[in-house]
Amino acid sequence: IKDVCFSYRNSKDLAIDHFSMSIETGEVISILGRSGSGKSTMLRILAGLEIPSKGKFQLYDDVLFNENHFVQPEKRGIGLVFQDYALFPHMTVLDNVKFGLSKLSRTDRLKRANEVLELVEMTEYKKRYPHQLSGGQQQRVALARALAPNPKLLLLDEPFSNLDKELQYKIREELYSILKRAQITSIFVTHDEDDAHTIADRIVKLDKGKISKIGRPCDMLGTPLKRPEVILK
Ligand code: ATP
Ligand code: MG
Repeated sequence: IKDVCFSYRNSKDLAIDHFSMSIETGEVISILGRSGSGKSTMLRILAGLEIPSKGKFQLYDDVLFNENHFVQPEKRGIGLVFQDYALFPHMTVLDNVKFGLSKLSRTDRLKRANEVLELVEMTEYKKRYPHQLSGGQQQRVALARALAPNPKLLLLDEPFSNLDKELQYKIREELYSILKRAQITSIFVTHDEDDAHTIADRIVKLDKGKISKIGRPCDMLGTPLKRPEVILK
């Protein structure tokens, strides 16, 4: 990601201000920052839901945007999990997960959907509808759906914010182990320092659209170390 700038149409300020970083395969990056610092905007840009005014984004050999090129969101090979899960309410868990796999044959689609449901430990719920699940279970289905097409990059925007503290804690431990097991490169937005320290290999701090700090959790000086047993692991 190189030198990306972006302003919303009705604003003179840069919502994203010269954002640059490179990410290694398999790395889990967390973007931390106050409300309004541009975290969701940055994910939307990477997903192709906003068009930056400047900069470049390359994923492996594919240039997804630069000054004269723009790849549509559905062609990017990027998985998204946003705050409101957005599962289809009229589809079962299994059908929700199968939805993004239209390129596969019928048999392969079912096989892959079952595989990812197993990964998030939701196999026994596959015939249920979203409203018959708890928030955390819906979360895991949303994650399974995003993982099913084997995305090259997974973007998560505050996926735990609607959950109670206890469930947040449990889910983020689960998410970490799922991401690591599946070796998924991911960018994970949160304003919760605990989340970032527990899950991220590296943390990016965003302030008014600019990177103010970037580093491993243990290098983020000035940040209260709330869970040292995890950080020192
Ligand atoms: P939060 O933690 O509250 O989710 P965030 O870091 O995700 O915040 P963004 O949603 O990226 O912040 O917003 C960055 C800035 O862009 C804010 O000042 C916000 O008001 C502005 N903004 C966001 N969406 C739009 C929009 N559609 N039109 C105009 N301005 C917007
Ligand atoms: Mg946001």
